[in-house]
Amino acid sequence: MQKKYQTNTIKTGNEILSVDQSDGVVNCSYKNIETGEEFKTSSKYLLACDGANSTIRKLNNVKLKSLDADETWMVVDGYTKSKFDCFTDIDAIQYCNPSRPTTIIQGVDDCFRFEIAFMPGDTVDEIQKEEVFRKYIDQWIGDNEVEFSRTAVYSFHAADAVKWQNENIFLLGDAAHQMPPFMGQGMNSGCRDAENILWKINGVLNGLYSPKILDTYQSERRPHVARITRGAIKMGGIINAKSKFKAFIRNALLRTQSYLRGKENIFPVLNGNRLGPGVHKMPKIKNVSIERYYFNEINVRLHDGRIMSTDYVLEKNFGIILNNFEGNKNISEDNLELLKKHNFKIINVTHNYNHSNYEGYIACEETHKDLQIYCKKFGCSGVILRPDKYIFDLFNFDKSDSLETIINNVLFNIREKIEFN
Ligand SMILES: Cc1cc2nc3c(=O)[nH]c(=O)nc-3n(C[C@H](O)[C@H](O)[C@H](O)COP(=O)(O)OP(=O)(O)OC[C@H]3O[C@@H](n4cnc5c(N)ncnc54)[C@H](O)[C@@H]3O)c2cc1C
Repeated sequence: MQKKYQTNTIKTGNEILSVDQSDGVVNCSYKNIETGEEFKTSSKYLLACDGANSTIRKLNNVKLKSLDADETWMVVDGYTKSKFDCFTDIDAIQYCNPSRPTTIIQGVDDCFRFEIAFMPGDTVDEIQKEEVFRKYIDQWIGDNEVEFSRTAVYSFHAADAVKWQNENIFLLGDAAHQMPPFMGQGMNSGCRDAENILWKINGVLNGLYSPKILDTYQSERRPHVARITRGAIKMGGIINAKSKFKAFIRNALLRTQSYLRGKENIFPVLNGNRLGPGVHKMPKIKNVSIERYYFNEINVRLHDGRIMSTDYVLEKNFGIILNNFEGNKNISEDNLELLKKHNFKIINVTHNYNHSNYEGYIACEETHKDLQIYCKKFGCSGVILRPDKYIFDLFNFDKSDSLETIINNVLFNIREKIEFN
């Protein structure tokens, strides 16, 4: 990363000791753990990604609200020469056995992970002995040769920091929120935090937006994470039913639900989960599929024949995606200046590779019909994407519209939510 972004300096083996801020500057002191030598540094913003026990959260006196869903599990990681038989069609199994709930995960390069629930009577030392834990997982391993690389006992928490921002200091990842791992969303949520704050800070530092936009980090992310955390707790409850009676009721309910709604829809918590109030015009739609709010990249073929995903083409910029726009592509000088200043990219999925006078206009063809299907599903002909690929808004254009008209409408729409400098 340091090689790619030459402006970054990564210092490992150092510990933050103190943090304070005055006049819009954050000052930190830290020490080298090996030598004990102490240093000071200052910056405009500080992103606290220092994990569940965040020193920076504590130094800022931010309380962590527990959601009372603590669970103890043991993790066993290892390698195998060939995939376990249970992974023929799938790569993860939640074995909801009331006498020992277990998660089995196929990783990359034939590595595997077992997560084994702690049961009454288990002890941290005893359960980590191979002769003890093997009897819980042998049925999945079968005759495969395995090498165990690590065991660890974790207590999973669900918690939420009551404040994610203190002036120029922002909490991200586990420092801001923790959830049980039953939906695999802890790290994912931390990555979404980072994607959310980075384009906003980048825009403020480059003089594009008013610093007010930074207040939308917490307002957008906190409700989003809260819903996923509730879902992970609920999912944990389903997986973790440790009484035979509860497990019987659960199985009956799940089988009925699966029969009525189909296997895919048993736990659609990511569906309908939009960002909280902020820089977007996402309508509240119950249970709408996730891509209404978050745009899944599609593959496009550029004029020179290269195939790329829309994420790759757009990079970390605002994007306007047009489904088969064929009108006049000339853009006025004023709009050209604004689009260029804000690094907008316009992707037109079309059979017509004609150019526009805007250098950020990219004509391309779809490799599949994903955009057509998307636009049909949500009744739109264009999508406005934020740099973090969340959808700012969907819109429609008429056949008679010019690109200039579309851009005017899009910019008007965006400026209702962001103050452009
Ligand atoms: C068993 C298990 C399974 C999981 N499975 C999944 C999954 O499938 N999918 C998923 O998305 N998530 C999963 N998670 C959750 C995921 O691991 C965490 O959400 C994620 O690691 C949090 O990342 P983070 O960067 O916020 O914090 P951390 O990974 O905890 O990193 C914090 C860093 O800050 C450093 N640090 C702390 N204090 C200081 C200080 N004072 N000074 C300097 N540095 C400091 C630490 O050394 C550490 O490097 C799982 C978690 C567990 C325990």
